[in-house]
Amino acid sequence: MKNWQQILQSSVTTTEQLSKFVQINTQQVEQVIQHYPMKINPYFLKLAIKKGPSLLRQVLPDIRELYDDVCQADPLGEEKNSPVPNLIHRYRDRVLLMVSQECAIYCRFCTRKRRVGRNGFKITRESIEKGIDYIKRHREVRDVLISGGDPLLLSDEQLDWILAAVRDIRHVEIVRIGSRVPGALPQRVTPHLAKVLRKYHPLYLNIHFNHPDEITKESSQACQLLADAGIPLGSQTVLLRGINDNAEVLAALMKKLLAIRVRPYYLFQADPVKGISHLRTSIEVGIHLIEKLRANLSGMAVPDYVVDVPGNGGKIPLLPQYLVELNEKEAVLRSYQGEIYSYPQKPDLHPSAH
Ligand SMILES: *Cc1c(COP(=O)(O)O)cnc(C)c1O
Repeated sequence: MKNWQQILQSSVTTTEQLSKFVQINTQQVEQVIQHYPMKINPYFLKLAIKKGPSLLRQVLPDIRELYDDVCQADPLGEEKNSPVPNLIHRYRDRVLLMVSQECAIYCRFCTRKRRVGRNGFKITRESIEKGIDYIKRHREVRDVLISGGDPLLLSDEQLDWILAAVRDIRHVEIVRIGSRVPGALPQRVTPHLAKVLRKYHPLYLNIHFNHPDEITKESSQACQLLADAGIPLGSQTVLLRGINDNAEVLAALMKKLLAIRVRPYYLFQADPVKGISHLRTSIEVGIHLIEKLRANLSGMAVPDYVVDVPGNGGKIPLLPQYLVELNEKEAVLRSYQGEIYSYPQKPDLHPSAH
């Protein structure tokens, strides 16, 4: 059996390779990958071919990526909030540290499409050290989000030194890793990796899953290994047109995630990133879907629907309107079944003093 490095090395990155597996317009695909590279590892490719368009559309280059003049390359202003290369400090107490420029697959809708797989993304041991040094100098940082690229594509040794260095900083209380690996290259999640990670608790892992078909025997086993290592698992899902913008699909995903011990965390509105317009939905679609989830599933299964707004606003949660009216006597509320209720108010309107 191949190990994860071998699987990754056999990834499909050229038009010629891809055309052996999928019917494509080679000229168009060639044009797209000149701008935005392609990478589909054989595990994900095989699964996507078996399961169909919901998985394929996430990784197959689409000519519409090149005819998108509405959106911006870096709508979230990440480069502006980057005091040292590959570190984003947007919220006072949290930083995002990019430690890897590689991914198990290239998602066509990537928020960092401007960088991932392209020359602009240069992460070195030195840049990571500079990031860690920045965190050391900023005592307000108590939460470090390790991201990329995909951090879990680093070797166990590299992850070990990064996590040790971050853990060594006194004021850092929690460490989080964001990864698509458990769903996109589950073979990477080995018992040895789990052994390395478990040394650095409290460590959280947020896994990117978009469709219930991504939950396979292999990805379930990967999650089980991580959960058994005591790592709380969350999920992040990107709402994507023609892929998961459907109440049944999302409900099935959330239920399956809970069953493999992953707690849904965020449902992201797809960012207005240049090259991904054809995969974005309107906000109305997101609100409608989150209302359907709320009405049909346990609260445990319902992620927060958030929009990351351009111009440094950060993540803003959006909810259907349940609060119809609020005054000194009552709150008028709408239930999950759409019925209206009056809830008696408490006259003291301010929080108690502590
Ligand atoms: C999303 C994000 C975080 C973490 O946000 P949480 O709501 O705490 O999960 C931190 N920094 C940046 C730059 C982010 O984009």
